Amino acid sequence: MEKGGSAVDSVMEAVAAMEDNGVFNAGYGSSLNIEKKVEMEASIMEGKMLQAGAAGLLTDIRNPVRLARIVMEETDHVFVVGEGAEKLARFRKLERRNPVTPLRLMYYEQQKKALTGGKPQLPKLAILVKEHPELFSLETVGAVALDKEGNVAAATSTGGFPLKLPGRIGDSPLIGCGTYADNLSGACSATGVGEIAIRLVISKSVCASMENGRTAQEASEQAIRLVNTRILSAYNAMGLIALDMHGGIGAAHNSPNMCWGYIKPGMSEPKAWLKAKIVKERL
Ligand code: ASP
Repeated sequence: MEKGGSAVDSVMEAVAAMEDNGVFNAGYGSSLNIEKKVEMEASIMEGKMLQAGAAGLLTDIRNPVRLARIVMEETDHVFVVGEGAEKLARFRKLERRNPVTPLRLMYYEQQKKALTGGKPQLPKLAILVKEHPELFSLETVGAVALDKEGNVAAATSTGGFPLKLPGRIGDSPLIGCGTYADNLSGACSATGVGEIAIRLVISKSVCASMENGRTAQEASEQAIRLVNTRILSAYNAMGLIALDMHGGIGAAHNSPNMCWGYIKPGMSEPKAWLKAKIVKERL
């Protein structure tokens, strides 16, 4: 960005770097679904023209976020999944990589054992998650940026919730839910239980709050309070990063941890933390 790169370029490269890292649940290192397969998804949005792109049900695209950008810039659509998305990646010669890591295979075995071991009557995955939170750290990746031209962008990428049903789509590729960017307000990317982010259209809510004058930090905390108030299910983990049009940074979560960091002009390296502001209160 210092060399004049756009917000869209920077969120895509930041997310692509995390997809390649192997530590996160995105790209290489994605979680496995109940059938021991990977189905990745990603989205990207820019705030000037409100262009957006997303891809889902991807099995071996090295960088799902790059495919999301291709959907945004080179198709008439916003969201393409499965075979069609794979075909688009083939046309554009996107790199492939087997996303399955030994660590995820080990987690899969542990999670499956917890699901079936001695408790065959578990009615919902949420109960399992509540009993074994250590097995379900979510680790989706996201980035938000504001560039020299005053444009914002956001991107999010994930392997999805561990042990999800095949075909399940979470919040990460859904515009307004996992990702939102609008030059009238700012940008936001979400992590946590996708079904909750979808029902609260949480990234758009954060942007609407910023449009109404809240800072990125205030808007993020407000949205987590909304989760705590409206979602009373056993497992309501949620985390948000946001950026307002004044360059204000927001990060808040109700989970025990959320790794995050930022860099601003003049800083030689980013600052990063394992936790941001933990919000346990309700509205
Ligand atoms: N939000 C993601 C999903 O539900 C999970 C995550 O944040 O790690 O697919």
